[in-house]
Amino acid sequence: KPRTLLALNWKMNKAPTEARAWARELAQGYERAPVELAVMAPFTALYGLKETLPGGVDVGAQDVSAHESGAYTGEISAAMLRDVHVTYAVVGHSERREYHGETDAVVAAKARRAQAHGLTPIVCVGEGLDVRERGEHVAYTLAQLRGSLEGVAENVVIAYEPVWAIGTGKTATADDAEELAAAIREALREPYGALADSIRVLYGGSVKPDNIASICAQPNVNGALVGGASLKVADVLAMNAAL
Ligand code: 13P
Repeated sequence: KPRTLLALNWKMNKAPTEARAWARELAQGYERAPVELAVMAPFTALYGLKETLPGGVDVGAQDVSAHESGAYTGEISAAMLRDVHVTYAVVGHSERREYHGETDAVVAAKARRAQAHGLTPIVCVGEGLDVRERGEHVAYTLAQLRGSLEGVAENVVIAYEPVWAIGTGKTATADDAEELAAAIREALREPYGALADSIRVLYGGSVKPDNIASICAQPNVNGALVGGASLKVADVLAMNAAL
């Protein structure tokens, strides 16, 4: 099994000053666990955060431009992120798909660009409530996965995040998470062959200290992408200790 990844997604929370204070607080109680810890922070916080975090804790961006450089006002390139020691870039989060109209093709282009600069993309997929209620969640999620991985190399992390479980307090059961993680793993064999076994598949959606262990114990689940419960150091230390 690949090394478990506890990936924190702060979303649009924490100014650089708050991020550094959080990192200093983390350092007081952090014991390097067998799991890898990474913080997906707002762009403005990345540089100061990486300098302040305990050694071995990685940082990631929540998005990256599909373009190399040039006249793309407001965009942040993969090269810029690499320059400030960023390891990961989340691409295709459901909030970006929904509020910014990102398609699978755009998500794949962002993932390829991230890889070209040595970043590991965390590609997010997952169905909404209507799809789940129709019982089409596996087919829907796998179609999204294939589209979002077009031309993407094996240096990638997949996050299965059912939209109905994000920020709602409704967590998928450990069995629900495993059902999709196993289906995703199987689908990864087509482009990546045996390397599919070394690709981390995360679950995200209302993960917190009291449910993270059972979800991450599933055979095909290799970690979690955590939103709300990532903001307080106490919760993160509790999740880190539970894994
Ligand atoms: P919550 O943990 O707040 O449900 O958010 C999940 C998520 O979207 C992580 O990317």
